Amino acid sequence: MRVLVVEDSPELAQLVKNGLKLAGFDSDHLASAIAAREALRNSRYAALILDLGLPDGDGLSILRELRQRKDSVPVLILTARGSVNDRIHGLRVGADDYLVKPFEFGELVARLEALLRRPGQILGRSLQLSNVTFDTEDRQVLIDDKLQLLSARELAILELLLRRKGNVVSKKHLEDQLFGLAGEVGSNAVEVYVHRLRKQLTNLGAQVKINTVRGVGYMMSASEG
Ligand code: CA
Repeated sequence: MRVLVVEDSPELAQLVKNGLKLAGFDSDHLASAIAAREALRNSRYAALILDLGLPDGDGLSILRELRQRKDSVPVLILTARGSVNDRIHGLRVGADDYLVKPFEFGELVARLEALLRRPGQILGRSLQLSNVTFDTEDRQVLIDDKLQLLSARELAILELLLRRKGNVVSKKHLEDQLFGLAGEVGSNAVEVYVHRLRKQLTNLGAQVKINTVRGVGYMMSASEG
């Protein structure tokens, strides 16, 4: 699950990124409004942590644009602007939550998790298909109630496919979520990981299959036992 952090202080951004990592979130960091706009147009994120005072503009205008184009990505504003009026304004423009600096890291993570648990958002604690159960908080996979060890990438793909079981998940979406803006992704990296996951699941007796939809992506569904 990948979160975008838009923050112009490098120290704070690093702190937030490290903390998110410990809490089980991958993140990308951008320090300007222009880069954030570009990324939000081209990639899908599970959530956005948004600073308001950016060197080349105001975070609120980014938020306003998102909501104008009906992008409902959960947004948590993280800012030094702490007056009641600032908070009301931020929420009215379309933020889902508002946290004022300085803040406690535990509170940021708890608020982020709360946003992602809301109906329609993607953090459901337990995902299930056939004999496969994925606990998204403990990051554990059970097959026939037996704990199985998968690599971090395999877990990430399994989670994304399970969340949309029965629907096609585009290769681009998997790439974005797995590698983010890091960039050095070979064109077949996702294929390689999907192939490995498929093999693992077969070996472990999982009664699910990953169908390849040529030119589009992948879909997970139940297979006959
Ligand atoms: Ca700032």
